[in-house]
Amino acid sequence: NLQGKTALVTGSTSGIGLGLAASLAAAGAQVILNGFGEVEQAKAHIAGLGAAPGYHGADLSDPQQIADLMRYVELEFGGTDILVNNAGIQHVSPLESFPADKWNAIIAINLSSVFHTSRLALPGMRERGWGRIINVASVHGLVASKDKAAYVAAKHGVVGLTKTIALETARSAITCNAICPGWVLTPLVQQQIDQRIAAGTDPQQARNELLAEKQPSLEFVTPEQLGELALFLCSDAAVQVRGAAWNMDGGWLAQ
Ligand code: NAD
Repeated sequence: NLQGKTALVTGSTSGIGLGLAASLAAAGAQVILNGFGEVEQAKAHIAGLGAAPGYHGADLSDPQQIADLMRYVELEFGGTDILVNNAGIQHVSPLESFPADKWNAIIAINLSSVFHTSRLALPGMRERGWGRIINVASVHGLVASKDKAAYVAAKHGVVGLTKTIALETARSAITCNAICPGWVLTPLVQQQIDQRIAAGTDPQQARNELLAEKQPSLEFVTPEQLGELALFLCSDAAVQVRGAAWNMDGGWLAQ
């Protein structure tokens, strides 16, 4: 039961972030949303499950806007008890033609934002004597795929940063862990399926081939399943799970 806890989920207007926010709201947490796009739809979805959510539209590529976001949560909701670092983007291209601006954006949003939100959330967690930091990394935090240089580098960085934060909070009721999903059918992945369709593959086949290359179950992981994992990491029973990089990937990493 997360009654009385606040949960900031970055990048929570869509996909996995919205799913994690829904699980946390249904468990009683006061959720604060962040992200672009279908904001009103996301807010209504969360409000239907629990308390009306907070929202801040910070662009997580900008440390100044991250500071504004964390200040908003502090002033309006008394600080962040559960920090879910989920915002992320992808770009698929061979290294030689990988645009430098995409590299910079992916490192900023997928990796550096985790440094900034965490360093700003930790003092309040220490004051209140409890906290959970859950970083949505990826199987690409543990293994690579070709044509994803920035994403793989950023996610490996997130897994490393997770371990460091776990050590620095080890003697407290604050834990920091990463979750490492395989393929989840979200706009981020649909974009990659669309690239295959554009290259002439039939839509159903494009989806099947994407799974078959990496994910032995041949089924997508769902945001709801990841939500259950996040709830476990928030529970008292998980207090000695520290610095883990926990995969939920249909067998991807077993190969
Ligand atoms: P998505 O595109 O559905 O959602 C991304 C969210 O991040 C959206 O809410 C978007 O508005 C927000 N966002 C994007 N740029 C932002 C910025 N600069 N500032 C603030 N918010 C921003 O993607 P998703 O698949 O749900 O991905 C969520 C996380 O899960 C990412 O970190 C991604 O790397 C990770 N992940 C996804 C998969 C997958 O298969 N979909 C697998 C492993 C890990």
